[in-house]
Amino acid sequence: MIDFSLSDEQRAVRDWVRTFVERELMPLENDVLRRERQGQPPGLNAEERTRLRELARKSDFWGVETPVEYGGMGLDPVTAAIIEIELGRTFLTFKFGGEADNILYHANEEQKERYLLPTIAGERRSCFAITEPGAGSDAKAIRTRAVRDGDTWVVNGEKTFITGGNEADFAMVFAVTDPDRGADGGVTCFLVDREAGWTSEPIDTMGERRPASLVFQDVRVPHENILGEEGRGFELAMKWIGKGRYLLPARALGGCERLLDMAIEYSRTRETFGAPIADRQAIQWMIADSQTEIEALRLLVLHAAWQVSVGRDSRHAQSIAKLFGGVKANEIVDRVMQIHGGMGYTRELPIERFYRDVRLLRIFEGTDEIQRRTIARDLLKGHVKVGATLG
Ligand SMILES: Cc1cc2nc3c(=O)[nH]c(=O)nc-3n(C[C@H](O)[C@H](O)[C@H](O)COP(=O)(O)OP(=O)(O)OC[C@H]3O[C@@H](n4cnc5c(N)ncnc54)[C@H](O)[C@@H]3O)c2cc1C
Repeated sequence: MIDFSLSDEQRAVRDWVRTFVERELMPLENDVLRRERQGQPPGLNAEERTRLRELARKSDFWGVETPVEYGGMGLDPVTAAIIEIELGRTFLTFKFGGEADNILYHANEEQKERYLLPTIAGERRSCFAITEPGAGSDAKAIRTRAVRDGDTWVVNGEKTFITGGNEADFAMVFAVTDPDRGADGGVTCFLVDREAGWTSEPIDTMGERRPASLVFQDVRVPHENILGEEGRGFELAMKWIGKGRYLLPARALGGCERLLDMAIEYSRTRETFGAPIADRQAIQWMIADSQTEIEALRLLVLHAAWQVSVGRDSRHAQSIAKLFGGVKANEIVDRVMQIHGGMGYTRELPIERFYRDVRLLRIFEGTDEIQRRTIARDLLKGHVKVGATLG
């Protein structure tokens, strides 16, 4: 039997987050849009984020996926996806506090004290730095070099598009430590404090995110700051990237639900030629197609999350969810803008804001083309069989 129903706990979590988004986040949207129209930095400011996190914490919403032994909620991946869907209903990029990058759990005990625990507590901020000007999709082509000198490593190179790179006080930096082995045993991940001397420059983008380019010039890093094993950094990088592939489309799915609700509401009230536009088949089909795609995306996201939760190899399912989510979210926001006519194109409504932000989903953490490459390769090499999803 296949059971598509939520558990009581999942329903309670979903309802709590839904109420939090409706009561605490959505009322801030107009103010955020107004500030953005006035040229102020996009999104929530630091005080708003801190206040909201503390508020959620009072209801024990803290560290959604952080293991219980680290003070978190230790929720399973399916529940985490359900939370992301709810948070996605606002364009405000809010995350509950108490989280740390999954690969920081590979730290040794001493590193955990210095990096993992303060990150969970919100006292330190990390960034994940693999992409370089000459190595994006082809991450194995990184050239940032770390050369050993006694008890330290000397790092030289440039990273780009690093989310949180301007605010982070330490970076998880991937550098080549053995050029002969490259990604196969010759890339190492280093925990590099900002005080070690790396610099960052913000990159302006069409969305809320302001990633950074980072420059490492003869930055000296103690040997004990290697995360995981020397030479095994590429596996850690893939683990970090692989983590988010179902959560990103989950968030986009929430945005699509909100947008479709807006389109339904608007089409019922907007009249042209003596009738609501909802009466026109052209509009109905846009609504129907969007709903169909939203429901298909929900199954793909939750299926990928379920595979993660039962410990199956979820890469294929995650690539499918990420690809479909990116493509369909962009189509849906475009339709919803179309249904709103000129109003959809203004900065009075959040639609154009969703429109700009959702475009990123087709680019970062594996572009559409790279997801297609993965999906096709799995099939062509026989790792995955057509029609074998359910075993
Ligand atoms: C806002 C933002 C935040 C980011 N945050 C981070 C971060 O925190 N940390 C980090 O390390 N990186 C980050 N990135 C980098 C991101 O992961 C890369 O931009 C992405 O992997 C694509 O790499 P690229 O930009 O170099 O494009 P390229 O790899 O140069 O690709 C250019 C185009 O060619 C296509 N292409 C490439 N190879 C193939 C192929 N084999 N077959 C067919 N088509 C192909 C791509 O799909 C794309 O359309 C971020 C990027 C952005 C925009």
